[in-house]
Amino acid sequence: MDIIGVYLKEALGRAGCPVCYLLDKYEKSSIETILYEHVNDPFVREKFAESLGLCPYHAWKLKEIASSNPLYGGLGIAVIYEHMLSLYLKSLQKGEKIEEKECYLCKAVKEKEHDVVETFAERLNELLEDYKNSEAVLCKRHYELINSLLGEDTSLIESLREIQIEKLEGIREKMRKFIEKFDYRSREAPTQKEALAVLLAIESLKGLPLGVNFVKREKTGHFWRDFSWPWRLEFQRKNSKR
Ligand SMILES: [Zn+2]
Ligand SMILES: [Zn+2]
Repeated sequence: MDIIGVYLKEALGRAGCPVCYLLDKYEKSSIETILYEHVNDPFVREKFAESLGLCPYHAWKLKEIASSNPLYGGLGIAVIYEHMLSLYLKSLQKGEKIEEKECYLCKAVKEKEHDVVETFAERLNELLEDYKNSEAVLCKRHYELINSLLGEDTSLIESLREIQIEKLEGIREKMRKFIEKFDYRSREAPTQKEALAVLLAIESLKGLPLGVNFVKREKTGHFWRDFSWPWRLEFQRKNSKR
């Protein structure tokens, strides 16, 4: 199995959405690399300047990760944001409005999401059994994104839907037990799995707290609104040839 296959299998080894898990891991490691190696890298600094210090979500995420590890300390963040503040000040002094382009971490994670979702859809046939038997459960967004790439393969679409329903019913069942155990007549405490089900319910509806999951989406029914159409068409073309 190749490296992506290994990643996907690893992601299926934990409870929760495997796509969100891989994106979360990617986001954290990108931020750690910035803090560890690229604080003074002119290319990275340029990327920061484009959005005036990332989007609010990633700016605070960067700060959180920097504070969580003494290895990074506060210097990197101070150096970067002193520069960003200077840019803002300069624009104010000149009386110009400073433009904030898209945050480059948002862009990078979105691209990663493309890759992971695409790979998941491409390999769903071989992953289905592992997915079924795992505690993993795709969040609503990633289930729908994968589903929308399955094209005409109705049997695969149906199998995935059945597994998804089974998993969600399992979570609901555990949550009901969790709730029942709060009844004063109950003598049992909720089990760990029942407590975990509460978190899994939130994760299966909303995904992990990632930038991509915070983006407001219009209710157009197009899950690929953020994804370029040429890319999607290319994927369908490639897969119809298989
Ligand atoms: Zn997800
Ligand atoms: Zn961002």
